[in-house]
Amino acid sequence: MLNIPSQSFPAPRSQQRAASGGRSKVPLKQGRSLMDWIRLTKSGKDLTGLKGRLIEVTEEELKKHNKKDDCWICIRGFVYNVSPYMEYHPGGEDELMKAAGSDGTDLFDQVHRWVNYESMLKECLVGRMAVKPAVPKDYHEEKKVLNGMLPKSQVPNALAKEGPVSPSYDWFQTDSLVTIVIYTKQKDVNLDSVRVDHQYDSFRAETIIKDYSYLIHIELSHAIQEDFSGLYYRKCQLISKEDATHDTKLFCLMLPPSTHLQVPVGQHVYLKLTIAGTEIVKPYTPVSASLLSEFKEPVIPNNKYIYFLIKIYPAGLFTPELDHLQIGDFVSVSNPEGNFKISQFQELEDLFLLAAGTGFTPMVKILNYALTNISSLRKVKLMFFNKTEDDIIWRSQLEKLAFKDKRFDVEFVLSKPTSEWNGKKGHISLDLLSEFLKRSLDKSKVLICICGPMPFTEQGMRMLHDLNFSKDEIHGFTA
Ligand code: FAD
Ligand code: NAP
Repeated sequence: MLNIPSQSFPAPRSQQRAASGGRSKVPLKQGRSLMDWIRLTKSGKDLTGLKGRLIEVTEEELKKHNKKDDCWICIRGFVYNVSPYMEYHPGGEDELMKAAGSDGTDLFDQVHRWVNYESMLKECLVGRMAVKPAVPKDYHEEKKVLNGMLPKSQVPNALAKEGPVSPSYDWFQTDSLVTIVIYTKQKDVNLDSVRVDHQYDSFRAETIIKDYSYLIHIELSHAIQEDFSGLYYRKCQLISKEDATHDTKLFCLMLPPSTHLQVPVGQHVYLKLTIAGTEIVKPYTPVSASLLSEFKEPVIPNNKYIYFLIKIYPAGLFTPELDHLQIGDFVSVSNPEGNFKISQFQELEDLFLLAAGTGFTPMVKILNYALTNISSLRKVKLMFFNKTEDDIIWRSQLEKLAFKDKRFDVEFVLSKPTSEWNGKKGHISLDLLSEFLKRSLDKSKVLICICGPMPFTEQGMRMLHDLNFSKDEIHGFTA
């Protein structure tokens, strides 16, 4: 499978896009969580209705399966019966039905390209799309006109030695993806017998079938860029795990020796673990090793380690698994994503940070970066919302930083304080915000960053608009 660069990634409706109106999650019925789905897929139940048989699906056949209780969708040439998955889909049944009986690849890529559907839906696989009718005589010319990208030299160099089978190949293309399907007519082709290489504008795939080799060699009109094949993951080793609060831990992962990865300020990555045989991916925002670390070691940036503050939810799917990892175990870490831009700091004078719970994580690097690099900065204020004092992440570091750097102030607001708490109480409100968000000068350049549970962030952003802050002055972490 080849991915051609998409100019518009993240796609307009994807989860990765902030302030896009967002992808709404639909409340799932009891017993319809991701873990429940994994359990169902492991139960041995026939989820396709085909008793484990894989079939070739024609376009006509695909079109017939367009109802909720009989819904097939094609993704990248493979057809899935998604009816059993309907009630488990976090985006709701209606979203899935948009692709019923058709090719849902583009829709899927727009909304959640990072989800590993091959793993999630493997028990729903009906088969692959059937080979199209015999190619016309002017095959190569026609392909060229159809896609405008493949192949540059009109003749794809497909060589098949005479043998027991005669494989064929086909391909199809969307704006961002070229899929090449090789039909070997063999049941048990394993990954060892397939070799795929691409360099610059040359693509080569060799399939070994018994004593024969089937080779496709294609010249592409553009060089392929490595990192466009969805999200690229590398395995990182767990180096340490320390308590930051009673339920939140600082994880330190070591990047592989050949990897250079510096996650930009305000961006997140995806962590991937295999849970009960299914690959699960969740987003997390890397932090610095501590709030003051970048002041301590500004000379040699440390690119070898990547740190995360992660709250463990005992009833959650991913975090308990992460918590059970032993030092030395591996977690896959994706390339960074997000739409926060350092340019938002340009000539900034007042920076206000509104964080709730682990919504504090993007604020860590923002805080460190702004205090170290923005010479125009007069004031940075963090309003940090938590349930109780015990939930405040890095409280003493924040207080130390406020003591050390006169530009920085922190205020804690608790929704479930004990009777001893003398600080602010309650939830985000217009009153709290209007008192907190005072410009240092009448017309000072302001940026307000807000992150926390989605309803907190959305509510907060509405209040900021009501307080007459402009769109450019607000960055909501709404991914
Ligand atoms: P989940 O299985 O998602 O469950 C979370 C909670 O909801 C649990 O208490 C669970 O019991 C409850 N729950 C689950 N399903 C249901 C249901 N159907 N009905 C009622 N309750 C339910 N988190 C961090 O800790 N640190 C970060 O740096 C961080 N960065 C993020 C960055 C981004 C861009 C985003 C979007 C999120 C980030 N998160 C971060 C949150 C993180 O991605 C996960 O959502 C979080 O870790 C929970 O994952 P989980 O699988 O353990 O829990
Ligand atoms: P939490 O402890 O449950 O809540 C933190 C504080 O926010 C509490 O005071 C809580 O009050 C309050 N709160 C919760 N919902 C609210 C609402 N609708 N309106 C006003 N206040 C509300 O938070 P958490 O468990 O750490 O969760 C953090 C969230 O941040 C997660 O949802 C995570 O996905 C998100 N996050 C997003 C990003 C990103 O980049 N997009 C990064 C990191 C984290 P109560 O006492 O009333 O609950």
